[in-house]
Amino acid sequence: MDFELTEEQLLVAKSARDFAKNEFYAAIRQYENNGDIDKIVIKKMGELGFLGICIPHEYCGQNLDYISLGLVCIEFEKIDTSIRFALTVHLALNSLTILKWGTEEQKRKYLVPQVKGEKTAAFAMAEPNAGSDIENIQTRAELESDYYILNGEKTWITLADVADNFLIFAKTNDKKSNNISAFIVERGFPGVVTNTIGGKLGIRAGNTGSISLQDVKVPRENLLGKEGDGLKIAMSALDNGLYTIACGSVGMIENCLETSIKYANERETFGKKIGKHQLVQQMIAKMAAARDIGRLLIYNIGWLKNKSRTNSRETFLAKWINCKSAFESANDTLQILGAYGYNNEFNIERHFRNARSALIYGLTHEMHTLIQAEYALGYRKE
Ligand SMILES: Cc1cc2nc3c(=O)[nH]c(=O)nc-3n(C[C@H](O)[C@H](O)[C@H](O)COP(=O)(O)OP(=O)(O)OC[C@H]3O[C@@H](n4cnc5c(N)ncnc54)[C@H](O)[C@@H]3O)c2cc1C
Repeated sequence: MDFELTEEQLLVAKSARDFAKNEFYAAIRQYENNGDIDKIVIKKMGELGFLGICIPHEYCGQNLDYISLGLVCIEFEKIDTSIRFALTVHLALNSLTILKWGTEEQKRKYLVPQVKGEKTAAFAMAEPNAGSDIENIQTRAELESDYYILNGEKTWITLADVADNFLIFAKTNDKKSNNISAFIVERGFPGVVTNTIGGKLGIRAGNTGSISLQDVKVPRENLLGKEGDGLKIAMSALDNGLYTIACGSVGMIENCLETSIKYANERETFGKKIGKHQLVQQMIAKMAAARDIGRLLIYNIGWLKNKSRTNSRETFLAKWINCKSAFESANDTLQILGAYGYNNEFNIERHFRNARSALIYGLTHEMHTLIQAEYALGYRKE
């Protein structure tokens, strides 16, 4: 395995850094107040080609590799989680899933406009009574001649109130154990109603909401894969989605470390820089380790993905470890900054609020702990 980044990968990382910093950093508090970053971020990402990373040229993509995708996520999340999250759901959870499972017609109709940023896409699995326990979803899809009729509620869905296209998971046949199927649903289909969830601790710049489906007629050709493929499709989507989350967490850790080092080399107490106090050094050492461990984990996954090798165990592990490290890094940085970390003069209170949610979304910290134990014990295979 060669860890040296190519010229092209370095260029992609630089353009992602410039994009996030120049276009969004100065106004991020305003976006946080209004919760309206998604439409503009998706449109601009489309124009610059970020929504086509890992998508072949024939679907208007950039045909770049998975390390490039990871580097983009790192740079986005240094600025704000909501920018990386928009890419996670739109590209990693939705577009790449259509690329893998979609028919040629579905790719032309849905993937291409999503790659160009003309349409915004979301991924809707969670429900009011089914978050961790995804096999317990209650949304139903009944086949009636050429249409499926969908009824149900999705909640805590990123981009719910702004997306044009949704990947909706629903139960198609109660008699089979593997009865979850995936559907491409357009906002314009009658019976689709969305709302925004307010009062969030973090990711305030971006939208999170609910989707209500009432007798929604979904054309039969909008079934993704085959009936009963839903769990397999969801797991393959998570392989990409969790990878982008794990990569973004590295960006947050790096931004926390840079902020901590700068501050520790300036602030003085008891006649010396606080960086000379061993208890401060302990927090900085932990962050430096988290940064290097995080990068190694994601480079390994990028390498596996580039070779089309299975990577679920590694991806789930990186999401579990890196998200915990990002939250701890934000918490430690806030501590190093003392009272000055407690308001919004620095990025850190925002990172702290944003990092907390990654212990919940993309499967909770506890579910990831169980999953890694199952892999180790041989109860779970790739
Ligand atoms: C900001 C944000 C964005 C999100 N975006 C999306 C999205 O785009 N699409 C989507 O489909 N979903 C999304 N979600 C939903 C997310 O996937 C769920 O919140 C998550 O899976 C957890 O489900 P829950 O909240 O219902 O918690 P529950 O499943 O009810 O869990 C509650 C608590 O019990 C614990 N627990 C549950 N079962 C076990 C067990 N067997 N052993 C030990 N502990 C257990 C959990 O770890 C947790 O601590 C998002 C959530 C958030 C917060």
